[in-house]
Amino acid sequence: MHPYTILGLSACITAAMAQGGEILPQTSPAFLADVPRPTGVATSAPQKPYPTGALDMNFKLDLKKYPTTKEVPPVNNEEVKKAIAAIDWSKVPKIAPRKKLATGDLDVKSYDNIKDPDCWWSATICKQPKLSYIPPDYYQCPTAGDWGLNYDDGPLNPFHFDAPEEWAEPALYDALTKQNQTATLFYIGSYVVTYPTAAQRALNSGNVLCSHTWSHKQMTTLTNEQLVAEFYWSLKSIKEATGVTVKCWRPPFGDVDDRVRAIAHQMGMRTFIWDQDSFDWNIGPNTPTSKVDGYFEKWISARTGNQDNEHGHVTLQHELNADTVHNAIKWLPQVTKNFNVMPIHQCLDDTSPYWEESFVYPKRDGTVPANAATTNSTSTGTNSGETKDSTGNAGAVTSNESGASHLQLTVLPGMITLAMVYNFFM
Ligand SMILES: [Zn+2]
Repeated sequence: MHPYTILGLSACITAAMAQGGEILPQTSPAFLADVPRPTGVATSAPQKPYPTGALDMNFKLDLKKYPTTKEVPPVNNEEVKKAIAAIDWSKVPKIAPRKKLATGDLDVKSYDNIKDPDCWWSATICKQPKLSYIPPDYYQCPTAGDWGLNYDDGPLNPFHFDAPEEWAEPALYDALTKQNQTATLFYIGSYVVTYPTAAQRALNSGNVLCSHTWSHKQMTTLTNEQLVAEFYWSLKSIKEATGVTVKCWRPPFGDVDDRVRAIAHQMGMRTFIWDQDSFDWNIGPNTPTSKVDGYFEKWISARTGNQDNEHGHVTLQHELNADTVHNAIKWLPQVTKNFNVMPIHQCLDDTSPYWEESFVYPKRDGTVPANAATTNSTSTGTNSGETKDSTGNAGAVTSNESGASHLQLTVLPGMITLAMVYNFFM
């Protein structure tokens, strides 16, 4: 069992196995225990009013301590080796890295699509792993009418077509705040290290952060060690920028199989896909904006026409470039008018998106679970959101992953209170 570490209170929390004795994800991944917590960032779920306006650009991470951005990181790094050593490799299926064709596309033709032995999404859009200990991927909201708002590929993206120095952040996050919305954001580690204050603002304004790997490659083509490195640096960048250890990730291009899932799972993350694609990422010569608009119109008319009553949706959207950000801002009012919009985590009733248990977010019905600590944010326009208060009481905290069967965290009486007191002085 790996030690759970929260705010340095190692061993205060005992992790217990749920039924079945399955392989557990690492709790607050042990290899990240020493990452220092930044100041000026929420240390529990932030409260409104959320900050808006210009970002403080002074906070920087030391890029020399990270691998080259946008490239698959080396595997002989000491930190990566430690993360590799923390994995039980006997439980990772022996699946060879996938081949790419000369076009750059994945070679899905040589795969047995009928049997789909590895639950390879790129070949079959499989979301129910064959590997017994891996929970299924999340890809939709369970309740009809729900819209699990989410954006991929941030932070650090241009906002204006002719002024590349103007960034999508905080424009998109401000637009969300103004419309009283929050989203699940799948972040690329290479961008987080380059623009950490954007990640801080996202967290401080109520959004939920997830990993979208370090360099945004087709993950099934990488070796086991490269996969660990991709996950490791994305986890570390988010943790060093914002103080949180994420429990969720989305594979770039949806490219995941059971080998990749197994490694992500052991590094503490659940796989999130989507159930409908806006194709905003492809806006350009092949996909005019009108085509993307057409999808939104179709989804809205299906819902209002009573033809969309099976389940809610997780729509693939991006904060990738000016096109996608403008599209996101443009459609948000209409989507909000016709769906129950909330972060994916909220539509799943997952109130604990991070390994740091001080962060407890609202349930699907908007209520906040008892014992939740809160952080007051301010709207001063600076990168605020400092820890303000704590109302957490001692008691049992149970990780909440609907459908998951893996982990329960039991907090010994007094420990949460102690953690909150510690929070207060950070
Ligand atoms: Zn992406």
